[in-house]
Amino acid sequence: MIVKEIQTAAYLFASILFILSLGSLSSQESAKRGVFYGIVGMLIAILATVMGQGVQGHAYIISAIAVASVIGVLLARRVEMTSMPQLVAILHSFVGLAAVLVGYGSYLDPKTHLLESTEHSIHLVEVFIGVFIGAITFTGSIIAWGKLEGKVRSKPLLYPGRHLVNIVLLLVCIVLGVMFTGAEGTTGMVYLYIMTAIASFIGVMLVMAIGGADMPVVVSMLNSYSGWAASAAGFMLGNDLLIVTGALVGSSGAILSIIMCEAMNRSFFAVIFGGFGNAPASGGAAAAMEGEVTSVNHQEVAQLLKEAKSLVIVPGYGMAVAKAQYPIYDLVQTLRKAGKQVRFAIHPVAGRLPGHMNVLLAEANVPYDIVLEMDEINEDLPNTDVVMVIGANDVVNPGAQDDPSSPIYGMPVIEAWKAEKVIVMKRSMSVGYAGVENPLFYKSNADMLYGDAKDSVEKILGYLKA
Ligand code: NDP
Repeated sequence: MIVKEIQTAAYLFASILFILSLGSLSSQESAKRGVFYGIVGMLIAILATVMGQGVQGHAYIISAIAVASVIGVLLARRVEMTSMPQLVAILHSFVGLAAVLVGYGSYLDPKTHLLESTEHSIHLVEVFIGVFIGAITFTGSIIAWGKLEGKVRSKPLLYPGRHLVNIVLLLVCIVLGVMFTGAEGTTGMVYLYIMTAIASFIGVMLVMAIGGADMPVVVSMLNSYSGWAASAAGFMLGNDLLIVTGALVGSSGAILSIIMCEAMNRSFFAVIFGGFGNAPASGGAAAAMEGEVTSVNHQEVAQLLKEAKSLVIVPGYGMAVAKAQYPIYDLVQTLRKAGKQVRFAIHPVAGRLPGHMNVLLAEANVPYDIVLEMDEINEDLPNTDVVMVIGANDVVNPGAQDDPSSPIYGMPVIEAWKAEKVIVMKRSMSVGYAGVENPLFYKSNADMLYGDAKDSVEKILGYLKA
């Protein structure tokens, strides 16, 4: 058992570590340190809470932590980088569910009914809001998981008057909240249950209304919701650390969502209330395709690279699927040794989660200084000899700039077509995540190199080394 003062000091220390952790995660060089701060902060937080006064049933707590830790380690070890967003989404749902259960427990706890009247009313409001946010996060995250996993259709589910329905449901919840706070003893449980059902429905409908191309924002938005749900649980339990940590996650998730909306030229509110990405799910702009698709073989690409002085590689989701980052690293080393300028162009939403490409390239030891953001490299592309698009599609779609009928119109993209020559490496002519045809493939300076990205890079490397 530790005294209250030591617990408060430990909570303060853990909060500082969480802030340092978030700060360090903002750059690749310091990200590992950031993760370390987070782990230490969380260890301190758990120990200080479990050893706090009034905590009983340590055997149960330790067993639960042990079982959960084993499951967590197994999941983290097994999960493929390509499935990371799904894992994150499902973990958010746990936070939401936890907030709902804490809310129920806290309301039924006999001690809370001994509180002085004003304090009791405030507590009831905390419980109600906490359960509301928790339920939305819970079901919304499950739907996000389903969409990312391909189990729920990624096309937005839109019906007329849905905003009105959401507003009416919200008003019903407010009325239920008033009845809940006025209920005697624990009789308000029924209002809590009805509100949970309505909030769960709102969570499902909110995420169902969001189109495939906007999914990155949904993931970070649910991250934000899960933070607010944790914060609400902190209020219910009177735990300062949970309030602070929840607020950190909640606000950083919200800021990330806004940054991503800016990167995709979307209005934040339009994304969270759904409606974007609702153009035809496939081939929407197909009729407008002009030009002919030409393809090359590996030997021809190797020859092109031998002659080029500058090369920019644009990786996308397909690089992650193929695990092509390792041979790409070898290719880059070989070309750099031959005196060529080789750089990477990273789109903010390339892949399936923010920073997806950066993590994969760092994993393969690609030096950070040649990995540039879209804004940093776009203006250099007209002076680049060759752009190699490896498993990317939507992020290099010129339709986003010049086809107002395209569902991704307005999204900033990497202007690969401005280079002298573009090689697109993918397995077929099929569309990317947003389900849109890509006019880049039809440009006269673009050639397709069909096949699995890893296999293709290895073959090119073979010709280069021969
Ligand atoms: P895309 O999904 O647009 O395209 C990926 C391409 O990779 C496909 O067209 C596919 O073509 C190709 N591919 C798949 N497997 C392989 C393989 N083994 N070898 C070679 N190519 C392969 O990816 P982008 O990265 O360009 O764009 C990301 C998209 O995902 C955007 O629409 C974004 O909004 C969305 N998104 C992003 C998230 C994020 O946080 N970054 C989260 C959720 C969605 P083929 O089948 O012909 O091989």
